[in-house]
Amino acid sequence: MRLLIVEDNGRLAGLIADGLGRRGFICDTAPDLATAEESLASAAFDAIILDLGLPDGDGLAWLQQQRSLRQLIPALMLTARGGLEDRIAGLDAGADDYLVKPVDIEELAARVRALLRRPGPRAMNLLESGALRFDPVTREARIEDRVIELSRREADLLELLMRRLGSVVVREAIENALYSFNEPVTPNAVEAIVSRLRRKLEEAGLAGQLHTVRGVGYMLRSG
Ligand code: CA
Repeated sequence: MRLLIVEDNGRLAGLIADGLGRRGFICDTAPDLATAEESLASAAFDAIILDLGLPDGDGLAWLQQQRSLRQLIPALMLTARGGLEDRIAGLDAGADDYLVKPVDIEELAARVRALLRRPGPRAMNLLESGALRFDPVTREARIEDRVIELSRREADLLELLMRRLGSVVVREAIENALYSFNEPVTPNAVEAIVSRLRRKLEEAGLAGQLHTVRGVGYMLRSG
């Protein structure tokens, strides 16, 4: 789950990114709307956490404009303004949820999970391939009743491959989904995660499903 945190208070943005990062989210931060637009153009995010007052504009007006451009990524507004009218304006502008500062990280994480669970551009329904099941909300993979223990990135990779079952997922798309802009990706990082995931699937009885398409990417075949 990759999140974009648009917040001009660098310390707060860092705290949120750190707190949500420790709860399994991949977080990028943007200090203004221009940077947010650049980030959205160059990577796929699952949700935005958006401050209202930003140096180059109003988060609410920006969100409204994004919505009119059919940019439907779920957005949670984060703001010091807590009046009823502000909340209503936020929700009317297309925010999916609204949280008033100071923010409790535990609550924010729960709200983001709830946001991602709603039907939308990225449905959070159980993913299935033969006996293999992955729950996008709890991040748990199972084969029948047996849980497969996965690291955060292994789970993200499995989700990506299961969402594109039977299609080749190019290496760049995998790097994009698994790493934030700040995290250096070593040349063999993706291969290493793929081999660990492949080994865990094999140990759980699913041999030969995760294929390497040399020079292109990886593919999960349905079991
Ligand atoms: Ca602000």
